[in-house]
Amino acid sequence: MERTVANTHATSNGPDTPGTSDAGFVERVRDAIDRQELSLVFQPQADVFTNRLTGFEALSRWRLSDGTMLPPDVFVPMAEQGEAIHLLGEWTLRAACTAAAGWLRAGIVDVPVSVNLSARQLDDPGLVLKVLGILAETGLPAANLKLELTETAMFSQTADAREALLQLRGAGIRMVLDDFGTGWSSLATLRRVPVEALKIDKQFVQAMVEDRDAAAIVQAVVALAHALDLAVVAEGVETAEQRLYLQAYRCDTLQGYWLSRPLTADGVAEFLAERSVVIGLKPDGPSAVPPTSG
Ligand code: C2E
Ligand code: CA
Ligand code: CA
Repeated sequence: MERTVANTHATSNGPDTPGTSDAGFVERVRDAIDRQELSLVFQPQADVFTNRLTGFEALSRWRLSDGTMLPPDVFVPMAEQGEAIHLLGEWTLRAACTAAAGWLRAGIVDVPVSVNLSARQLDDPGLVLKVLGILAETGLPAANLKLELTETAMFSQTADAREALLQLRGAGIRMVLDDFGTGWSSLATLRRVPVEALKIDKQFVQAMVEDRDAAAIVQAVVALAHALDLAVVAEGVETAEQRLYLQAYRCDTLQGYWLSRPLTADGVAEFLAERSVVIGLKPDGPSAVPPTSG
């Protein structure tokens, strides 16, 4: 049975707990990489209507040597407090691109990998070269990589960071605006950032069936995105009913436990093998009629 650390910042500094000073934490992340304590899981995304696989999101996991799993909600914010985020971010990108290049070599085309990029990674003046270097090294075409940035990361940027995003976009890497609706998106700036899709945060998706306001928000975000020629991804889709609502609102892509939990590399291979036989639509359960307005 795996132990999981609660979703609070670790403060103790025992032999197996990540160090809290910045230099210490950088060393701890380096060690974790050497000892293969870090891994990625991949959560599939699919077309809301056809259920066709459209990609995977890479999510980081840290397993301490005693078996405790540290969730990314704990170690990513710790890394973001200092330089460790650059090490972690580079490891994540390389591991995700290596995996996606493997899918491509196995003949699975049109299945890009999405990687979460922390706002702090945009402070790194070497970021663009690092990302392009990793693509070259792993043999992954730029079109098969998406970078997910939160609203804060996308909008509170220096001119250099904005330039970096434009260069990445210019190289053919697509950007997704993550956790949409939870930050402070300005509709005016939305037109000026180089994103191709908005990802609606799971809090709205999960509230949507019970709460008319949440439903109205999801419907409005889809309409807004489409008016701006952006695709829309709904995250945290857990039920057939939520999928039905997303179909009614013409959302493009879904991700969530309804389709699949995040999968290990072996789990991805099984998932892909099953999919090549059946593009399996799960039976939809009994459903209510989604509220629509306008
Ligand atoms: P996120 O980018 O919003 O990722 C979605 C989170 O929702 C993931 O949690 C995923 O496992 C979870 N999830 C997916 N489907 C469902 C569902 O149907 N129901 C529910 N309740 N949850 C679902 P996870 O893996 O714990 O990641 C948490 C956050 O940590 C991510 O949120 C992301 O912000 C961050 N993160 C994860 N990996 C990385 C990484 O490599 N780099 C950076 N910078 N951040 C990361
Ligand atoms: Ca994400
Ligand atoms: Ca989210």
